[in-house]
Amino acid sequence: MITIDGSEGEGGGQMVRNSCALSLVTGEPFRISNIRANRSKPGLMRQHVTAVEAACVISGSECAGLAVGGSELEFRPGRAVPGEYLFAVGTAGSTGLVLQTILMPLILADGPSRLVLEGGTHNMLAPPFDFIERTFLPVINRMGPTVSARLVRHGFYPRGGGRIEVDIVPAPLVPIDCTTRGEQLGVAGHAVYTGLPSEIAERMLARARRDLAAWSDDAFVVRELPAEQGPGVILMLEARYANVTEVVSGFGQLGVPAESLAKTAAARMKGYIATSAFAGPYLADQLVLPFVLASGGAFTTVKPSQHTRTAIDIARRFTGRRIELTRQGDGEHLFSIG
Ligand code: ATP
Repeated sequence: MITIDGSEGEGGGQMVRNSCALSLVTGEPFRISNIRANRSKPGLMRQHVTAVEAACVISGSECAGLAVGGSELEFRPGRAVPGEYLFAVGTAGSTGLVLQTILMPLILADGPSRLVLEGGTHNMLAPPFDFIERTFLPVINRMGPTVSARLVRHGFYPRGGGRIEVDIVPAPLVPIDCTTRGEQLGVAGHAVYTGLPSEIAERMLARARRDLAAWSDDAFVVRELPAEQGPGVILMLEARYANVTEVVSGFGQLGVPAESLAKTAAARMKGYIATSAFAGPYLADQLVLPFVLASGGAFTTVKPSQHTRTAIDIARRFTGRRIELTRQGDGEHLFSIG
């Protein structure tokens, strides 16, 4: 039984999700205490509970302590069974984070699966659908499996109501080399909104255009969604390279001016472009699991986040693998599996 102190390292929900995924793949049971102990609302939130429930449903795993607000879990893994599954997060809780929990076990299962996930598709502090589709899954597909995702309906905080569908054709994960981006193929800036004045999306885009002055005007597009998918607004900035695509998002928030969200997103995109690293900060923490499960491979990343360091720590505990994160001369870091 692996024991984890959930308040260590990054100390967030990702420790719970990654532990479930690794437990299902390795067959190692675990106990985690002090879940999200340092967050303003400690313990499991609805979306974490749904993610763990999803892990149990696909595998017949047993889990004690699973409840909203719960601070300790004991998880005894079963074996992931491929099939058709529907999980509804209930509120605008992130569909992407549920996917993070069950994708690797289903990729390594012995047959194809189809997932329908309902909830938030573009919420703060979680991978928006476009990031999953254009940044994360292309790397996974290069590692062997075929995973395709469709966005059926957007779901924004707080209303949710979004829906994504994911088809998984499993395959063993093979090590790949992701140390170069390749040449830049294109850039795009999309402001997507619904149920709000169009002026908010236009102001976001205008600010992003001003800050990303090297991008051509026709790279920037405003798109209105059907009213029943809102209200909500998001700015997504995309830089496409031969080997990787980075999607940086600015999530509309009540009380935060459109310009300030766009300014932060543009600064993040400029920061990524200025380096030559393959993975931005979010992709890096999300690649830890697949690379560890492939037992090899390497990627370069911008300065590693606490999420990435904690994901490595948890992966070491379950697999015993030597995982290295080495600083390169130019500030990039090289992630590799020994
Ligand atoms: P907590 O509330 O405890 O912090 P959580 O379960 O909401 O936990 P985290 O543990 O912070 O979430 O994990 C968030 C995950 O979402 C990480 O894998 C991170 O890479 C990803 N993520 C967050 N923001 C973005 C973004 N803008 N684009 C892509 N991925 C993102």
